[in-house]
Amino acid sequence: MAESLGRLITDLGERTLYDAVSQCSRCGYCEQACPTYVATGDESKSPRGRNQIVRLMLEKKLDDPKAAMEALTTCLTCGACTTACYAKVPVVDIVLEGRRLLRGETHWLVKAVCRIMVTSPRLFAVLLKIGFLLKKSGLSALGRPFLRAAGLSVLASMDEHTTESPFWNLDDLTHKRENPESPAYRYFAPCGPRYLFPRVGVATLSALDELKGKGAYLDNPCCGLLAHNYGDLSVARELAKKNIEHAEKSGTEQIVGDCSSCVAHLKTYPQLFLKPEDQEWRTRAESFSKRVKDAVELYGECADKLPSAVAEGVETTYHDSCRAINPQGIKAQPRLAAKKAAGASYCEMAGADACCGGAGAFAFVNEDLSDDLLKKKVGNAAAVQAEVVLTSSTSCLIQLARGFRKYYPDAKVLHLSEFVDGALKKTHGA
Ligand code: SF4
Ligand code: SF4
Repeated sequence: MAESLGRLITDLGERTLYDAVSQCSRCGYCEQACPTYVATGDESKSPRGRNQIVRLMLEKKLDDPKAAMEALTTCLTCGACTTACYAKVPVVDIVLEGRRLLRGETHWLVKAVCRIMVTSPRLFAVLLKIGFLLKKSGLSALGRPFLRAAGLSVLASMDEHTTESPFWNLDDLTHKRENPESPAYRYFAPCGPRYLFPRVGVATLSALDELKGKGAYLDNPCCGLLAHNYGDLSVARELAKKNIEHAEKSGTEQIVGDCSSCVAHLKTYPQLFLKPEDQEWRTRAESFSKRVKDAVELYGECADKLPSAVAEGVETTYHDSCRAINPQGIKAQPRLAAKKAAGASYCEMAGADACCGGAGAFAFVNEDLSDDLLKKKVGNAAAVQAEVVLTSSTSCLIQLARGFRKYYPDAKVLHLSEFVDGALKKTHGA
């Protein structure tokens, strides 16, 4: 059995896992907010059902661990249920705890990737470059059946779902960047914008420099979300400690990241340190988390500095990343920025806050369910004739790009950073 947290930070304060699960009154008020329940009509794939499964597990009354694992692994961890729940039951954390309690050993591949991220981020970057070269040459596509046969279907699906294979990562592209002595902010480079979408990282740095003043890199390792959700908590803690130490050494500036999933995770670091012996780290994690901001929050706060209607003429809409809108409550801010720059061409689509089915590895392991949610999302974008769909998480960028390629090639997806940076550059005639 994998290590579990055992205690969670809930809206009512710190609670044991059992007490957190017991906060669910089984009212069912959240059911219609849950994409997997709406798609399947299956109670075990609802927030209430999943809470009940973990409760039975803790009471040692679970009679079908296989069905329980299926119910828990089909959760998108989107958090829409908690947003809808009057008691704010932390279903995502409960589900992740349930998975840890049911899971045996962590998969060797996840273990290996997490270990490399902790001990040798440079090696990780080199391995990715090799992977991207294989992709560019078409060899990775040929290798997919072998990956599937070797039990590595997740890697095959990842390769299939992503089209971008940038050889030069964000560190390569910005190595000449000078860090000012008194930066206006510290940039936290999440793995998505760093390795897969460096164009997003470049745009974020450029937009934030313009809106807030010149910033500097935090020089961070991975936030630890992969280890937290799919690997070992000990690795997630190691990475969290490294990030906290980097931030403490850097000063006291705001820390800004441009993948909402990673930023949401950075904001919950204190929950990793609830054991009595971790009290000192908990205090340090609390100070760290208070400094963290999502880039899309900042664009809203700086909307008055953005040019008006410079992107008018291209129908533009916004898709909320689940990890921005649910745990972080970010809804109005990115829209303020998008509406300012898009002017009359901004239109709101139905179900903008519904999960697109990306959700980290969800799209690679639950392909049919993920595709159902994706089709719904693409249909809503098509209904408003969107040409540009803005968002803020790496997972959404991958999933929506795939959806538009497959079902609605008239639209493309951009990170809000790219849109804001493009708008700022237009005013400078760049
Ligand atoms: S999670 Fe909240 S809304 Fe859903 S059944 Fe439980 S108490 Fe009701
Ligand atoms: S996190 Fe999302 S998918 Fe999981 S139970 Fe809640 S609403 Fe449903």
